[in-house]
Amino acid sequence: MNGDVITSVETYALAVPLPRSLSDATARLTAWTVPVVEIRTADGRIGTGISGVHHGADLLTRVIDRHYAPELLGAASEDILGTWKRLYWLPTHWVGRAGTVHMALSMVDIALWDLAAQRAGLPLWRLLGGTPGPIETYNTDGGWLNLSVEEVIRDLGALADRGWRRLKVKIGTPDWREDAARVRAVRTAIGPDLTLMCDANQRWDLHTATRMLPVLAEAGMDWFEEPVHADDVLAHQRLQAAGIVDIAAGESLYSYHAFTTFIATGALRVVQVDVTRVGGVTEFLQIARHAAAAGLRVVPHAGDMMQVHQHLAGTFLSETPPLLEYIPWTREAFVHRSVVRDGYAARPQEPGASTAIAATARERWQVKGIGATPSNRRARQPR
Ligand code: MG
Repeated sequence: MNGDVITSVETYALAVPLPRSLSDATARLTAWTVPVVEIRTADGRIGTGISGVHHGADLLTRVIDRHYAPELLGAASEDILGTWKRLYWLPTHWVGRAGTVHMALSMVDIALWDLAAQRAGLPLWRLLGGTPGPIETYNTDGGWLNLSVEEVIRDLGALADRGWRRLKVKIGTPDWREDAARVRAVRTAIGPDLTLMCDANQRWDLHTATRMLPVLAEAGMDWFEEPVHADDVLAHQRLQAAGIVDIAAGESLYSYHAFTTFIATGALRVVQVDVTRVGGVTEFLQIARHAAAAGLRVVPHAGDMMQVHQHLAGTFLSETPPLLEYIPWTREAFVHRSVVRDGYAARPQEPGASTAIAATARERWQVKGIGATPSNRRARQPR
C-alpha cells in the first residue's frame, strides 16, 4: 500500500466561546464553531481540514461522514484535483453545490493540502511558492453592530494602539441615517490616518446602498462590503460603476463561476474569497489568480480565522500587497497558532497548513453528538 493512501476519516466540531456576544446586520454570535475533518494515511500522517460556522456544523460533518468518507477510503491523498472533481460530481451536487455540501468539500480539500505540505516537509505557503515576508492584517473585531458608537471608537482605538492600521466597522441597520451618523462619528474620533472599511452584510437594497455611497466616501471608507444581497450581481455592478467607493464581496460566493461573473461584469473591486466557502485551497487559488489577473484586490474573508489564509496570501502574482482579515476567536484551538505582531502576520514555519487541532481544544470545546469516528466506516465497494 502506498503511504499516501487514505485509511481513515474522522469528523468532529469545536464550539469556541467568544469573549463577548457580538452581532452584525445578519447574525448574532456567542461562539464560533469549527467543524473538523481528520484524514489519516497509511504512512501515519494526519491531514486536518476545517471550516467555520455559527450554526449547522453537523450538516457539514454529515456530508463528509455519509457521502465523502466512503469515497475517500482507499484513495490516493496526493490526487487532490482528481478527488475534488470526484466528490464535487457525486449526487450531493444536486442538493448543495453551494453552501453545506461545498463547504464540506472545502474541508476535505484543505486536509489533502495539509497532507501534501506535510509530506513535502514544508509549510503550505512555501509549497505554493509564496514569499516569506510577514503579511499585513486588518482587524474586524472592534466594529460590531451591537456595540455603541462610543464602544466602537474605544475598541478601534485600542486596536490601533496595538499596531493595526486598517479596521472594519459594521453597518446595515434598518435606518441608514443611523449608520451615516455612526461612520461619521467614528471617522471624526479616530482621525484621518487609519484606514477604515465598512460592511453591511447584505441587508440593504440598491436604493439605500446608493444613498450611502457619498457618506461612505466622505468618511474615507476603503471599501463597502456586501452592500446588498450577495447574489445580486447587477446591484453590485451599479454600485461599483458609480465609482465612489470600492465594492467588496465574496464571503457569500461559493464557486469559481460565481466569482468570474462578478469579475467579468465589473461588479466589485475587492475580492473576498474564503477558502472555507469555496472548494478549499484548490478553488481558492483558481479564483485568486483570476481576480488578481483582472487587476482586482484579493483580500480573503477569514471564515477560518486566518489559520489557512495566512498560507495562501502572497502565493500569486499581484501588484497589490497581500492583506488578510484578522479575527482572533479560535486561535487557541490550534497546535500552531497564528502569530500577529503590530498588525502583521508571520509566516508559519511548521510543515502543513497550520490546521492541526490541539488536544486541549478538543477536551474543552468538542461538541457532543457531532461527527463520526473512523470505526464507524466502511470503504465504498468497487463498482
Ligand atoms: Mg463581511
